[in-house]
Amino acid sequence: MGVFESIAGEGHEQVLFGFDPVSGLKTIIAIHSTDLGPALGGTRFFPYESEDDALTDVLRLAKGMTYKAAAAGLDLGGGKAVIIGDPHTDKSERLFRAYGRIVDSLQGRYITAEDVGTDVADMELVRRETRWAVGIPVPEGGSGDPSPATARGLFAALKTVSERLWGTDDLAGRRVAVQGVGKVGHAFVRLLVEARAEVVATDAYEPSLRRAMDDFGVKGVEPDAIYEIDCDVFSPCALGAILNEDTIPRLSCQAVVGSANNQLATEADADRLADRGILYAPDFVVNAGGLINVYEEMRGYSRTRAMHRVDSIGEATRRILETAERESINPHQAAVRVAERRIHEIGDLRRFRRSGDDRN
Ligand code: NAD
Repeated sequence: MGVFESIAGEGHEQVLFGFDPVSGLKTIIAIHSTDLGPALGGTRFFPYESEDDALTDVLRLAKGMTYKAAAAGLDLGGGKAVIIGDPHTDKSERLFRAYGRIVDSLQGRYITAEDVGTDVADMELVRRETRWAVGIPVPEGGSGDPSPATARGLFAALKTVSERLWGTDDLAGRRVAVQGVGKVGHAFVRLLVEARAEVVATDAYEPSLRRAMDDFGVKGVEPDAIYEIDCDVFSPCALGAILNEDTIPRLSCQAVVGSANNQLATEADADRLADRGILYAPDFVVNAGGLINVYEEMRGYSRTRAMHRVDSIGEATRRILETAERESINPHQAAVRVAERRIHEIGDLRRFRRSGDDRN
């Protein structure tokens, strides 16, 4: 498929390719929608096997951000960026500053933050070249790493799910299988253990698993074994597309609540989960904590206000699950519907033009 067909197919507004021969920077920035506000989404640093893979990923992720921001009730659109490379070997000051200049050229249509493969230190370098970067270090006046906020939002969602399934938000004694104990997964396991839940964890990177086991005394298993763990909740906190026709039949849980983006390989997998009686808490609703946290940074960061809004993910999850029940659809469809309604209703406010709005 040609580049323009890929873009048009999902309704993206703009895609920008950036290259810096000195640092080796190869980046693609995708803006899916600015209907509700500037397109905010992190920068993924990943060794994609091909440029096509990178483009497919950034388009998919950018669209996901549109829905995430809308479902969270934020005045933000959706966008995302990828940098093609190995985050362990290819990072440099020059690369991130060149990237910052490319982000700056979009004049605030796209606002970046950290994502898989990038961290607060990288965002500080980007920020030297553009004001359109958030998730910068706390000492620099930013909100820092968004991952603990994502974990906190996930925990609020899990409590809502627990209430609906078991009539209590007390997680003591519940068994949770966590796939991926990186930045979010590690923080989430901490919250689970503090709530006296029983955790079984895995990670493809052995030192990360070892760290979680040492820090929290949780049980570890091989990556592929996590799907078959007999548990109350399966929590995907690694990469996407792990809920699919191969894995869903293997799950032995009552609910799926995890931070990973795009957990469903296809839309049909939401039905597959429902058919198996597994309650799926939509990924882009429950993992919005980090986005909410960096959004607050744009408004002048207050941790109290940010955490209050992150905790409201519990309520947002409740509303989505109720919508699903009321409208006889699965939770993923309900979340998409709620987000699209907001994009339509609030985005449409722009028809009341104000002085300073675009003149066309
Ligand atoms: P991370 O890179 O810090 O952690 C991901 C972990 O998953 C790593 O330790 C990695 O080794 C492990 N992993 C990768 N493939 C695996 C596999 N097949 N089996 C088991 N483990 C595997 O990333 P993160 O920031 O913790 O994000 C985790 C997920 O949550 C990602 O999908 C990310 O897009 C999503 N997310 C993150 C945030 C955030 O605030 N960081 C916000 C929203 C969504």
